[in-house]
Amino acid sequence: MSAKIIVAGGGHGGIATAALLAEKGYDVTVYEKNSRENMGYDWTDIFAPESLKDVGLDLPDESLFEYKTDMTFYSTDERKAIYQDVPLDEREIKMERRDIYNMLIEKAEEKGVKFVYSSKIEAPIIDGTRVVGIKTEVGDVYGDLIIDACGCESPVRMNLPKNFRVQKSPLKNEKFYVYRAFYNKVEGAVAEDKYKVCLLPEGKTGIGWVASEEKYTDLLIGRFEPFDLEEAERTAEVYRSKNPTLGTEIVRGGQFVQIPVRRPLSVMVCDGYAAIGDSAFMTVPIIGSGIANSFRAAKILAETVMNDFDNKYSAGTLWEYQLRFYKELGSGLAPLAVVKILLTKLTPEQLNYIFEKGILTSKEMTITANSTGMSDFFHFSPDLPKRGLAIVKDKALTKELLWVAKKMVEVIIACSTIPQEYNRADVFKWAWKYDQIFR
Ligand SMILES: Cc1cc2nc3c(=O)[nH]c(=O)nc-3n(C[C@H](O)[C@H](O)[C@H](O)COP(=O)(O)OP(=O)(O)OC[C@H]3O[C@@H](n4cnc5c(N)ncnc54)[C@H](O)[C@@H]3O)c2cc1C
Repeated sequence: MSAKIIVAGGGHGGIATAALLAEKGYDVTVYEKNSRENMGYDWTDIFAPESLKDVGLDLPDESLFEYKTDMTFYSTDERKAIYQDVPLDEREIKMERRDIYNMLIEKAEEKGVKFVYSSKIEAPIIDGTRVVGIKTEVGDVYGDLIIDACGCESPVRMNLPKNFRVQKSPLKNEKFYVYRAFYNKVEGAVAEDKYKVCLLPEGKTGIGWVASEEKYTDLLIGRFEPFDLEEAERTAEVYRSKNPTLGTEIVRGGQFVQIPVRRPLSVMVCDGYAAIGDSAFMTVPIIGSGIANSFRAAKILAETVMNDFDNKYSAGTLWEYQLRFYKELGSGLAPLAVVKILLTKLTPEQLNYIFEKGILTSKEMTITANSTGMSDFFHFSPDLPKRGLAIVKDKALTKELLWVAKKMVEVIIACSTIPQEYNRADVFKWAWKYDQIFR
């Protein structure tokens, strides 16, 4: 008899896994708090098109996507810019999030996945060491495996018993508070850069972008501390003074959301439970992109489930999912989380210096949502000695960069020593050591 799988929350990775499993005859139901028509945010997303193949999806019709525009990065004082230069064959695509969801849900329904919308999940149901179901507004439901795709603030993950050792919440500086809105485009105004990204804008830890589209101007304000609408509007006004295309009328979006920007979970499975997507913190830590990684993880999770011929879904059998995830993606993402920590430590003066002296170049800033490793971030070039010299001239910066190098080595070693077989004590010991590197 086929197993009963519950997907908690309609995250991208969860729905994609559901479709892959339903195709093989599993009984899969997705419980989602939103209604069908409110699935996804009212904005566009950028992701690697190759990841669609992992979950059995084709590139959509040309009318539904366009290739991403290169970004221009600015330092705090905005005196220097670094231009991305993504090769044509590596460009990501930009799609409306609602269209991504339409594509995913249509595929899942076609394969037999059931959806229960408007059913807010409150907590997991636990029996001994096992997650056996979820408590929802519409009642308790039980299953053989609960796939947690509820996102960064998942009530399933956050309410797991402490002794399951699944980290409940991101710590300080491990998630981004984001405000994003599309404003009207001021008629006749011309944007100097089509997609402008400001690092540590106004000296505040975080980023901001202003992207001039054909019909609107896309504003994103991201910080490591929460902020309110009044502060978002004040910041928008500051951007307006330097970006003439940014109008005052919100035409789309206008929401506050949170994105995990940290290493993936150190324990993402337990008996009857597996986390995926933002629930397992699978985003690229520096830029917060998580759609492609969720799709890649979906393929691994679905294959792991299918390999469990006894339908046990114990931590031991699900461990293969975490192991493969770390091998294929996590071991590249975790060192990037160290680079992210550096961004929270740099002063605006140091960042201005880095831009001015050409320490970072367009090669490094060509990091994309497809980037999952250090080789995507560090590039060797003939001017490396000159850049190195500029670093050592600034003692404080040198100290920070040495710290980063040391931490990266520790993270790379930790990822390569992840237990190959599941043994509770060994896994918890490994997870403790790995997490400790980031504290
Ligand atoms: C402003 C912004 C811009 C982004 N841009 C990009 C981008 O360009 N490219 C990219 O790759 N990524 C981007 N991301 C990140 C991306 O959204 C996520 O990494 C990706 O969607 C994977 O997250 P998820 O689907 O697992 O979780 P989520 O997108 O958070 O989805 C979780 C789902 O669970 C549901 N849910 C939550 N709580 C409950 C509950 N209690 N009960 C029932 N259902 C619940 C939610 O309604 C939602 O449907 C962006 C994120 C933000 C916030």
